[in-house]
Amino acid sequence: MNNIEKDTVTRKENREKQFTKTAFDPFDTRHHGAIQVPIYQNSLFAFDSYDQFDQAMSELLNHHVYSRGNNPTVQYLEQKLAELEEAESAKCFASGMAAISSAILSVVGHGDHIICVHQAYGPTREFLGSYLSRFGVETTFIDGRSIEQWSGAVRPNTKLLYLESPTTSFFGLQDLRMCAELARSIGALTIVDNSWATPCFQNPLTFGIDLVVHSITKYIGGHSDCVGGVVLGSKALIERIGYTEYMLLGGIMTPQTAALVSKGLRTLPLRMQRHEDSGLQVAEYIGRQDFVSRVNHPGLPSHPQYELGLRQMSGSSSLFSFVSDVPVERWKEWAGRLRYFKIGVSWGGFESLVTVNRIERENDDGLEASLIRLYVGMENPKDLIADLEQSWSHL
Ligand code: PLP
Repeated sequence: MNNIEKDTVTRKENREKQFTKTAFDPFDTRHHGAIQVPIYQNSLFAFDSYDQFDQAMSELLNHHVYSRGNNPTVQYLEQKLAELEEAESAKCFASGMAAISSAILSVVGHGDHIICVHQAYGPTREFLGSYLSRFGVETTFIDGRSIEQWSGAVRPNTKLLYLESPTTSFFGLQDLRMCAELARSIGALTIVDNSWATPCFQNPLTFGIDLVVHSITKYIGGHSDCVGGVVLGSKALIERIGYTEYMLLGGIMTPQTAALVSKGLRTLPLRMQRHEDSGLQVAEYIGRQDFVSRVNHPGLPSHPQYELGLRQMSGSSSLFSFVSDVPVERWKEWAGRLRYFKIGVSWGGFESLVTVNRIERENDDGLEASLIRLYVGMENPKDLIADLEQSWSHL
């Protein structure tokens, strides 16, 4: 077997093992064998003796004392996600942004410096670039596609390398292993937003990354019915976040949300398989249209970092974009004529979505281009392609 064949087998095995992890739970006497975790709808947990109470208070996160700390339904989901992401530990939050801001705050303080990929999710950039500067934390934004850009931005006070791979508008990748090695060599930590690939297709901790964050709102939740986030990493780092940002800022996940997400999680590997197949079919079709100048999809061999993607991901999801010189106004009218693609933010649910944005052209001629972001849901990809096909004539 040559190296490419071996890599393909490993990628396939990595994906297959997630099916058992999501479907199987060991028998749990605490829940009377309940197949879905019960919703513990309570704020506090009472004790029979003061000795037990004192013991629990001394280790709040390892006992059930108060739900702004450790609720059994939320804890079940945390353990499940940790297993999928190959993490020692996890903490679930009220939103992806609560998870992201808490993870960042747990690493930096006044006078520190952060390096961040400049196409990271907008509110993350705003938190780093504007909000944190009020507290004396500076951020340098870089393209991030080559390791030289990261090492060139390092300062003596750099404490954090913040990655989002792939980024969710232009879908550029960062080399996870090299960034983790660079961070370690300068005594900094790394955080990766892994919402696009999900734990099914990429496990950044296995490349030496310190913390992984997800917007659970996206594929993990999978049904556009809840907002949530998670931070995953070593027991020590997650415990630190648990006792500080989690408990002090209080952006916790509710037990109802945790139960909904746990239910959705059962089908995550299956859904991702479908999203990958359909996403690639639609992206390939888009790439054949003559008014499309570029398709940004890391799973297409035409993507400039396709090889890196194969090394660090075992699959690709179904959010991608394409660039066109047709003006934005015409694309906006076009979007309104689509039947199956609804106009809307977010992604990761069952329904296909579209958004349109104005961007500068890459050749620096001062002219504008359009960036169309498509999210391919669970519909039959043939129907989605037929919907697109009928729409071009009016473009
Ligand atoms: N990360 C990425 C890549 C996102 O696209 C989003 C939301 O769109 C977030 C984080 C934030 O997640 P949430 O909306 O759950 O706070």
